Formats: sequence, structure tokens, C-alpha cells
Amino acid sequence: MGGTMAGGATDCAEDRAGAGPMQRLRGAIEALSEGFALFGEDDRLVLCNARFRSGYPGLEELLLPSLPWAIFLAEAARRGLGRGLDRIDAHLAGGGETPLAVEATRPAERWVRLGFHPTEDGGYVLTETDITAERSAEELRANADELLRDVLDACPSNIMMCRIGDGTIIYRNPSWEAQFGPRRSAREVYADPTARSDFLAELLPTGALDHFETEMLGADGRPFPARISARIVGYQSEQAIVASTQDMSRLYAQRDEIVRINRRLFDAIGALDQGFALFDAGHALLAANSRFREVNAPVAALIVPGVANAALVEAAAAAGHEPRAVGWPGAEAGAEPAARFEFALASGRRYAASRKPTSDGGFVLAWRDVTEQRAAERELARRREASFQSEKLTALGELLAGVAHELNNPLSVVVGQALMLREEADDPNTARRIEKISTAAERCAKIVKTFLAMARQRPARLAPTALGAVVETAADVVAQGIRGAGLALETALAPGLPPVQADEDQITQVVVNLLVNAQQALEAAGLPDGRIRLETRMAPDGMVEAVIADNGPGVPDELRQRIFEPFFTTKDVGSGTGVGLALCHRIVSAHDGRLEVDVGPEGGAAFTLGLPVAAGPHVAPGAEAEPLPAGRLTALVVEDEPEVAAMIAELLTGLGVAPSLANSGEAALERLAGGARFDIVLSDLRMPGMGGRALFREIARSRPDLVPGFAFVTGDAMSRDAEAVRAESGRPLIEKPVAPKELRALLRRLAGERTGREAEQ
Ligand code: ADP
Repeated sequence: MGGTMAGGATDCAEDRAGAGPMQRLRGAIEALSEGFALFGEDDRLVLCNARFRSGYPGLEELLLPSLPWAIFLAEAARRGLGRGLDRIDAHLAGGGETPLAVEATRPAERWVRLGFHPTEDGGYVLTETDITAERSAEELRANADELLRDVLDACPSNIMMCRIGDGTIIYRNPSWEAQFGPRRSAREVYADPTARSDFLAELLPTGALDHFETEMLGADGRPFPARISARIVGYQSEQAIVASTQDMSRLYAQRDEIVRINRRLFDAIGALDQGFALFDAGHALLAANSRFREVNAPVAALIVPGVANAALVEAAAAAGHEPRAVGWPGAEAGAEPAARFEFALASGRRYAASRKPTSDGGFVLAWRDVTEQRAAERELARRREASFQSEKLTALGELLAGVAHELNNPLSVVVGQALMLREEADDPNTARRIEKISTAAERCAKIVKTFLAMARQRPARLAPTALGAVVETAADVVAQGIRGAGLALETALAPGLPPVQADEDQITQVVVNLLVNAQQALEAAGLPDGRIRLETRMAPDGMVEAVIADNGPGVPDELRQRIFEPFFTTKDVGSGTGVGLALCHRIVSAHDGRLEVDVGPEGGAAFTLGLPVAAGPHVAPGAEAEPLPAGRLTALVVEDEPEVAAMIAELLTGLGVAPSLANSGEAALERLAGGARFDIVLSDLRMPGMGGRALFREIARSRPDLVPGFAFVTGDAMSRDAEAVRAESGRPLIEKPVAPKELRALLRRLAGERTGREAEQ
């Protein structure tokens, strides 16, 4: 090709081929998106398009027809644009007979692809394409692939890609390999070979599967529980599975441990004797133990996890059951959750409860049965009260004993004088009045005696006793109170009952107690027509019975036995001590008798006191009125109080006994030292100077013949002194005020003893 083609593609085309085809060719070359340069066989430029020129900034002026290849190469290299061209130059040096493509860099990180194409006429065409965008996309892809591999290789979770059909593993990361070992197929890692089919059946329809659980084989061949998550992805024109597997062994072990701990916790809560329920933040029941259900029986059907506190509370209220036992009344209204309280259920049992908020906004309700504890506490309070009462009683007893003692002497005088006056009175009217005085005085004497008996406790002194008389005495003591309370007291005493073996004072105390209890029961009941009936009778088993019955509320069946227990009372603290019946029971037991409670004929309580009949010949009723043994007896009365002494003397005289008086023990001894003989000696116990006890000792020593006729007179037969004297001397003791009946009985006994003694001698 010639150098004529200088000046650009346009000029050269016009010269050679005329305007038509050459013009079109030039246009086409210019329109090419790549740079285009044609070199002739002489290695000189024939033509190039504008795009080519733009690839070599600064060389535009040079790139004209006939530019030699070598200069182009040198100038391009000088401007840093020679990369790639040098390889083409080397190719040319080697003949340049084959096409060549070369990629080379350009300044500003650009890339070009240079194409070398030999032409038939020995020249060659050079093309140049900017491939910067293409190269950076490629680079990016290569970088991304590398990154992905790095990430996957470093990923602590295991990842594997396999073919869907045969499970051939395409990729596995080191974690996967560590977990499963160097397997070739995903099929090998299932403990149960059919599990993979199940896995695929679940995965294939949607192409995604999470949390498929199965058992897999680890690198060591041991099975472990696993959870697989997988996706189907397109890979090289086929579909593959990408899966990650999680070893669930630890998680399951932890889960099992939590379940175990929970179960243990609930077992413990279930075994609690306390009722327990846990509610969540929404006040729904989470758990409740069996005790909780048991005690909340009226709403037990509702007590299931999830039930609302409000529903439980409402149901309980509707069933008449304590709502605080099932939940938290007022919770919805914002009441305080924390509370301690006690409640009682219809069963009568008491519970101490606590309600506390939990850290998550719920609350816990727990309670325990405190029935026994509270009863014990009450019992303790009552005992304390009882011992306080008993102390009070002792103090009162001392006082009473003192008062009674002081009353005895004047009372003796009243009784005795009244008796004697009655015998002297001619006028029946006066006699009747005296009779009244005498009866009243004797009643006073009895009351004083009973008070003394109640004030002191001592072992039973059993002697043949008329139960009827005891009952009457007791009735006398309380009659005033009973009638004052507007109640009726009826007595029905059977005549001719044999005497019982009893301690008169103690049995009086028992009957008084029973009467007072009946009175209190009737008063408490407030019935309009309260009645107490007092009866004596012969029982079929040979005991003599006294029945004290009322028409009050009676004693409930379940309490029949308990009322005899010490300190058992149904009365309020302060009003009842529960000692009364226990004491009665003890006394009656010491008598070998019985004390029972039953329903009375009128529906109230009926207490039956049974006592054994006294052994030995019975004194027939009325014997007290029998005359004393024939022959005039003599008696020495030793008494420091002149009035009492005179009264006793008068009584004795009335009974046909000749009395002599001595106003002290010393005086009595003087009389006896003079050799005086007496059938009977009646000595006061307490006197200034020598008392009755010392006198007896002296007599027993110096005049034993007088011992069988010796008796003491005392103002307080229950005192310790009296008791000691009685024990020491074995002599009878008669109490002031001396009642004629008693004196007569004593004289008869003394006379009898003396006669007996004489008969023995
Ligand atoms: P207290 O009278 O101090 O309670 P008691 O031992 O005398 O002690 O009586 C015990 C209980 O027996 C009384 O609290 C009462 O419940 C019951 N009780 C006794 N007598 C009667 C009665 N006549 N009627 C009904 N209950 C009675």
C-alpha cells in the first residue's frame, strides 16, 4: 500500500475507490465501537478511525497515513501507552502470520484488548477495545468467589452443598467435615437411611426447610440428635441442596435437665402440705398443687393452667367459698398483691396465707393450715387464764376461809340459841318464828361450810353420806343465784336411799358445779322457761344417782367426752376456765363413782352422778332422831369463847348430857388432874395458850381412858391444822357452827366408841 493514503481514512478512500463504496467503508470504519487501524505491508499506517486515535492521546497528530509502525510503537511507549503493543511487535517480529489478542493495562487503571489480524496483502489490522468495565466486573466476581469461600471455610456453622438426587457432596466447609468426617455423599450421614427421603419430601415442595429433626452419624460414627435447615439452589444448570446441621445433643440435654428440674420443683410443690398456686403476669394460673385443689374443692374443676384469676375468684364467691383461698380478689382493680392474712373455711379450719408478687409481674399464693396451731395457742391462753383464775380462786379461798372462820362462832350462837329458844317457846307463833330463824341460820352455816369446802382441796375423806342431804346443801348454795336469774329449780329426792361412800364436801362441790354450769347454759341460751331439775334415785347397777338436768341447749354429741377434759371450755376466755367438769370428774373417779352427760328429758343436758353405796350396816333414815344411849353422860367442853361454850353446853344439856366448861387447855388439864371423869371431851382446836392439839396429846399420854370420848370442835374443818390433827389423833372433828343434828350424831358415835372400848376391855 502506498503513502498516498496520508491525511485520514476519508482522503485515502476518495483517492482509491471513488466516492461511493469507499465512502461507505470509511463511514463504517468510523462507526466501529472499537479502535481500528490498518497498517500496510510496509509497516506504515494506512488509515485509522477516531476511536483508535482517542486511545493514544498526544499521538493524534502523528497518527496519519504512512506513520511507520516503529515510530508509533516508540511514541506510544514514551507516553506510557505501549503495553500490549510490545507483544504485538514481538509477534510481528516472528512473522505475524496469525491473529493475536492481547489484553493490556493503560494509565488510570484502564484495560484494553488489542487485536492483531494479518491481511491478505501482507499488511495487518490493529483493533483496540476498552475492556476496563469488563475486567473490573470479572475481578469483582473473582474477588467475591474468593470471599465466599473464605467465609464459608471460616464459618463455625457447618455448611454443605450436595446434589439432590444421589446426595453427592459438591462442597462442605471444614466445620461440616469436622462434624461428619470426609463423606462423599449426604446420604451417609443419616442414622436411619429412610430419614433422607423424609427430609427431601419436606424440602422439595417449597425449596426451603427449617428445623428438620433427625438422628445423624458423627465423624466417629456415633448417632446424635440433629436439626437440619436447608435450601434448594441452582448450581451449574442443576439444582443442589445447601444445608446446615445443628448438633442438638447439648441443647436437648439442657432441655431435658430443665424439664427434670421443673418436674422436681413441681413434685416438691405438689408434696407440700401447703396450698400453692403460681399466676403469670396476665394473672392466669400457671401451676397449682394438689393441696390447693383439695382445699378449694368447691371450684376444683376450674383449677387448670391458664384459668384467669378473676374467674377463680368470682366462682369461689358464687360458691360461698373464700375467694382469697383461690386467688387475688381485687387484682384487676389494682389492689396490693403483697398481703398476709388468715381465713377460715366452712369446714371450720383456719389457714394462714401469703400473697407475693413474682419478679415477672405475676404472683404466688400460698397458705397453710393453722387450725391446730391456733387451737393450741388458744388453749395456751386459756390455760394461762385458768391458772390465773385458779390463783384468784386460791386467794379468794383464803379470804373465804378467813371470813367463814370468823362467821362460824357467831353463827354457832345463833343456831344454838334459836334451837334452845324453840324448845322453850310456848307460844306456837313465837315457835314458828324461832323455827324460821333457826332454819335460816342453819342454811347460813351450810353455805359457809360449802364455801370452805370449795376453797380448799384435799384428798377425799370417804364416809357414809346421805346423797340427798348433799344435794340439798348444794342446791341451797346456788338456789339464790338460780332464782335470781329467773330460772326454776325443781328437786325430786327419792326417800330411803342408802348412804353413799363419799366425801360430803367434795360431792357438794361437784353438785354445785353441775348446777352452776346448768344455770350458765340456760342463761347463755336466754330461753324464756329455763328449768333445772335435781333428782336422786337408785340406779339399776346398785349405785345411788343424782341427776342434774336442764332444758338448755345441751352438749353436742362430739363434745360429750371433751367437756371433761381439763381446760376444755366453750365459753369465752375470761368467763370459762374448763376446770369445773375436770375437777368434778376427778373427784367422782376418786370415789369410784361415775359422772356422765346425756340428753336430758327436756332436751337439754343431763349430768348423772353415780356413787357407790357405803359398805356396812346402813343407818336407817331418821336414826339421827333416835335417843342417845340410856344413862346420863358427862361432857367436858373446852372452849375459849364463852358464848360458844355456853351454847354448846346448852345444846348438850338439851341432848341429855351434863356439860362442864373449861376456857382453855390448861384449865381442862387442871380439871382432869383432879381426877374428874368425863364420858366425852369436846375441845376447840384453836385457843390462846394450849390449843386443842396439845391438849389431846397430853390426854392421850396421861388419861388414855378419855381418848375414845374425845372430839375436836373447829371453826375451819378444812384447814391444814384440822387435817393434821385429824390424821394424828384419829379423832372426829365437828365444825362450828355446831348444829344440833351433828352434835347428836357425834355424841352417839362417841358413846358407841366408848361402849365398844369398854366391852373390849
Ligand atoms: P367452764 O364452765 O369453765 O367452761 P366446765 O368444765 O365446767 O368449764 O365445762 C366445760 C364445758 O362443758 C362448758 O364450757 C360447756 O360447753 C359444757 N357444759 C357444761 N355444762 C353444760 C350444760 N349444762 N349445758 C351445756 N353445756 C354444758
